[in-house]
Amino acid sequence: GNGFYLESQQRRESNARSYPRKLPVALTEAAGMKVKDADGNWYFDCLAGAGTLALGHNHPVVIEAIRGVLDTGLPLHTLDLTTPVKEHFVDELFASLPPAFAARAKVQFCGPSGADAVEAALKLVKTATGRRTMLSFHGGYHGMTHGALGLTGNLGPKGAVGPLMSDVHFLPYPYSYRCPFELGGEQGWQVAARYAERMLADPESGIVQPAGMIMEAVQGEGGVIPSPDGWLKEMRAMTAARGIPLIMDEVQAGIGRTGKMFAFEHADIVPDVIVLSKAIGGSLPLAVVVYDESLDVWQPGAHAGTFRGNQMAMAAGAATLKFIRDNRLETHAAAIGERLQEALRRIQADVSCIGEVRGKGLMIGVEIVQSDAEPDRLGAYPARPGLARAIQQACLARGLILELGGRHGSVVRFLPPLIITPEQADEVASRFHDAVRAAEL
Ligand code: PMP
Repeated sequence: GNGFYLESQQRRESNARSYPRKLPVALTEAAGMKVKDADGNWYFDCLAGAGTLALGHNHPVVIEAIRGVLDTGLPLHTLDLTTPVKEHFVDELFASLPPAFAARAKVQFCGPSGADAVEAALKLVKTATGRRTMLSFHGGYHGMTHGALGLTGNLGPKGAVGPLMSDVHFLPYPYSYRCPFELGGEQGWQVAARYAERMLADPESGIVQPAGMIMEAVQGEGGVIPSPDGWLKEMRAMTAARGIPLIMDEVQAGIGRTGKMFAFEHADIVPDVIVLSKAIGGSLPLAVVVYDESLDVWQPGAHAGTFRGNQMAMAAGAATLKFIRDNRLETHAAAIGERLQEALRRIQADVSCIGEVRGKGLMIGVEIVQSDAEPDRLGAYPARPGLARAIQQACLARGLILELGGRHGSVVRFLPPLIITPEQADEVASRFHDAVRAAEL
């Protein structure tokens, strides 16, 4: 049962484990959006590999694609040497990119982690511009390697490792509910945009001409914070006018999750660089950086590495991209996401601890707050991370796996597979409702 595996994990794995501590289960079987633990309990998986499992667990087209590689004597791993499987993956990738971007795109295989693709993007824009400074955003998350962590807003994981990248400037990210800079609403994002512009224009701001700007169109780990389209457009216009490459980190929000293939497409912008991982490998490890050909200044060996040739991941990724496009799964994600958000808003009206329900498509966050306290000067109730954790546990007991996030750890995050049905979305909401009621007592 679970006990055997958990005891062994406790004894032998490092203390760096974070979410497994809050979700003490050993998983033995999975299909679609459900997973089974070693005691025979089934769960709805709304963590789904932190958004990796776009088609859920063991989707037939993914399994078939992996089998296709295994059954035909194709090499399993080829470093960066090309193969028919890789050729097919690149076809699918380019067919999924916005046409204006695809027409001028180059791809660099990275990884297999998202963080490695962020490192690649960072090195790329530094090499292309000859500059050193980076612009990043408060609350952003880009991974755990030194460079990626240096671009990450959250100080928690940085504390112990000392100075990272020396020249990163963090700009405010508009957050309507609990913005530390009081930049909520339309007026707020306009102030955030003006602030960024003036910081760049002001010789006294300390910002040397940047090599690039990196951001998430919807912050994920930071607490599911969708950026306003107007603000994103302004950031694009500002960076374009100043010759600063714009890197969109679509590791979590990309590949259909937010209701468009890429989250930046909501704002109708075209970035210079796109960082992709998680769902791009169809549940196996894969990461790429895709960029405008004008940035293609790399010399051979500039971003080498051993594990960029995982053929099963490319086959699974290609099958995932094709299935999403053929079935307009991003449109499905938008519709089901709206249905789930509406259900969560009805729950918000029924309970007293939900401060805000927000998100885009199937990337949804629920802020758990203390509503009988005084709102703070930003008009938001105090965060209640303890209650958020209790709700997460109550969900687990009711067969629902969810993760927390946000600056206080008080945002419950819903990242179900894109194949979730309306009935499953309703069931997820219903279990969450029960869990919130039970935890509130
Ligand atoms: N960027 C974003 C937006 C992410 O959400 C993550 C992972 N949560 C990463 C980068 C890092 O990816 P990985 O964990 O594969 O290194």
